[in-house]
Amino acid sequence: MGILDIVPAGVLTGDNVRKLFDYAKENQFAIPAINVTSSSVANAVLEAARDIKSPIIIQVSQGGAAFFAGKGLPNDKQQASIAGAIAAAHHVRIVAKEYGVPVVMHSDHCAKKLLPWFDGMLKADEEYFKQHHEPLFSSHMLDLSEEPKDENIAECVKYFKRMAPLGLWLEMEIGITGGEEDGVDNTGVDNSRLYTQPEDIWDVYSALSAVSPNFSIAAAFGNVHGVYKPGNVHLHPELLNKHQIHAEQKLGGGKKKPLYLVFHGGSGSTKDEIKTAVQNGVVKMNVDTDTQWAYLTGIRDFIQNKSGYLQTQVGNPEGADKPNKKYYDPRVWVREGEKTLVVRVKEACADLGNVNRL
Ligand SMILES: [Zn+2]
Repeated sequence: MGILDIVPAGVLTGDNVRKLFDYAKENQFAIPAINVTSSSVANAVLEAARDIKSPIIIQVSQGGAAFFAGKGLPNDKQQASIAGAIAAAHHVRIVAKEYGVPVVMHSDHCAKKLLPWFDGMLKADEEYFKQHHEPLFSSHMLDLSEEPKDENIAECVKYFKRMAPLGLWLEMEIGITGGEEDGVDNTGVDNSRLYTQPEDIWDVYSALSAVSPNFSIAAAFGNVHGVYKPGNVHLHPELLNKHQIHAEQKLGGGKKKPLYLVFHGGSGSTKDEIKTAVQNGVVKMNVDTDTQWAYLTGIRDFIQNKSGYLQTQVGNPEGADKPNKKYYDPRVWVREGEKTLVVRVKEACADLGNVNRL
């Protein structure tokens, strides 16, 4: 039985998101969440998922969403980030069905100061729900991990009460992920804070599960956003098992691995670390830094290899009157970036066991 026997192709919402993550947890694999900044990037991600016959998670960050709408737009009130995220979700909704794969359409880290962005997306979900009886997005992330724990949990509960009736999944973060991303700089944080404690996870679980079962937790286990020299990051995904066992004991009833966990800051982690994380209930792993690099690779190589064809509109090494349109058309060189991105997304899926799952 494959995942298409359980959920449909296209953007998933409501309990279908949980069914997908349950299937992943039961079958010991995780789904990569790839950050997209344009329809080109989103299409390449979908293409990779289709080729290897697996579900995929597409996410937009606040900055990526603004780029999706266009860097020429003002964003002082998060208007470009709101419009771009909505545009990305509509784009993915329309084309994902053509690729024939289940997709989780997600918005990435939203810190306290970016809440107007979150509010704008949630408003779009509510409007979409009125017409279609489901939200526009599958899932949103609230990252209030920089705030005191009680405030983090209370704010998540407040938003989750609005999200759950629409059929939205919530991803939250607790503990500190090192490094810098989306304007949150944790490069100087004390090492012990980089590991979330099982009691903290249980506090989150008990508060959110009172609202809906459709949520996941990004716990810190030494993760760092961005990419760092090997040896500088000390990941301890085995700690995630402690969270599961603590929650199992608190819950009683024998339910195994009750938590849906998310792996942030995974760029540069080893295959063993990924495997351990998945065994301990990680169902989603964010991939951004490595796929940014992959998208550049194809474009860079093309520009370098075809340099003689890209200096003037007419005239290349084959003759002074030879036209170069078939080299400078964006459909040619952007496509080269898409091709190398497709390869990298497939690799991310393979690392997580997310291959041949339809
Ligand atoms: Zn994070």
